[in-house]
Amino acid sequence: MSLDKFGRNIHYLRVSLTDKCNLRCVYCMAEDMVFRPNAELMQDDELLTLVRLFTELGFDKFRLTGGEPTIRPSVVELVREIHGLPGVASLSMTTNGILLDELARPLAEAGLQRVNISLDTLDPVKFKRITRWGNFEQVWAGIIAAEAAGLTPIKLNAVTVRGFNEDDVADLAALTLDHEWQMRYIEMMPFGDVADFAQKQVVTDAEVRERIEQRFGPLELLDSGKLDGEARMYRIPGAKGSIGLISSVTVPFCASCTRARLTADGVLRLCLLRDKEVNLLKPLREGATIEDLKQIIRGGIWNKPWGHGLAQSVVPLERVMSQIGG
Ligand code: SAM
Repeated sequence: MSLDKFGRNIHYLRVSLTDKCNLRCVYCMAEDMVFRPNAELMQDDELLTLVRLFTELGFDKFRLTGGEPTIRPSVVELVREIHGLPGVASLSMTTNGILLDELARPLAEAGLQRVNISLDTLDPVKFKRITRWGNFEQVWAGIIAAEAAGLTPIKLNAVTVRGFNEDDVADLAALTLDHEWQMRYIEMMPFGDVADFAQKQVVTDAEVRERIEQRFGPLELLDSGKLDGEARMYRIPGAKGSIGLISSVTVPFCASCTRARLTADGVLRLCLLRDKEVNLLKPLREGATIEDLKQIIRGGIWNKPWGHGLAQSVVPLERVMSQIGG
């Protein structure tokens, strides 16, 4: 078990497979984003060594992310290897879905259990405007392929951005009427170069809920308000699927945080919204022993910050979301 000094059991690791992405979402990174050279990123053997260490420290829940995890050429093999590690109880992925049409089945066969797919609008023109390079039809095909491959329950992530897709919130929620999908709305968070934009264009989950209720009437609160991961769960009465509100900015859920992140360049990021980090790849490359590395990880986890400082205007500046792993 890996405890932090506040007594939280940290057992969920989000592993970024790459900092690169095949989209350029406006809230995530600049269009002319510069990426790290591949040699500075964890190679397959290094990534597997570090993930194994985390399993030995009691981590049992893993999510692969990025950048865009599906563009890593070895993604299927990495899923197979991680799935085979003792102690891995849950293995999922966050993806933009662009490549899922062809990859969903091989990923499921390799041991991936679930996917969260980013989907900010159902309007192909707005989709292109938000993602800059994306094609809505490809993502839709990816969602259908993921469901057919059994990567369920399908969770769809929307970031709501003022002036881009706040009018699409209810249309997205309507997907849950006929599909057993979870439609999740994530409050836009400020990072690095896009911090200003994110702070100016943020749409709160209170407004998202109001927009959904204007169309469908009062939402039913599920699980007595208990969080599903980071999402508070609701349902449109009679709907097959559910709605999750992830109010990271306005109602932080730091007290129940169980997670840490391993960035593509092998750094342990202790809080999404704090720049405090511990490098693991450097000591690994310099010959640290497994026991040394475990000590470094234990020390980092122990000192995990309590939570973010957005209310005090403390914004993470060192990395944008694609360099952390969402
Ligand atoms: N490329 C994958 C994808 O699109 O899902 C995985 C990486 S992406 C960084 C992970 C998640 O972070 C996505 O759901 C994305 O919408 C979300 N995200 C990116 N920038 C964000 C921001 N500034 N605030 C809130 N969520 C953000």
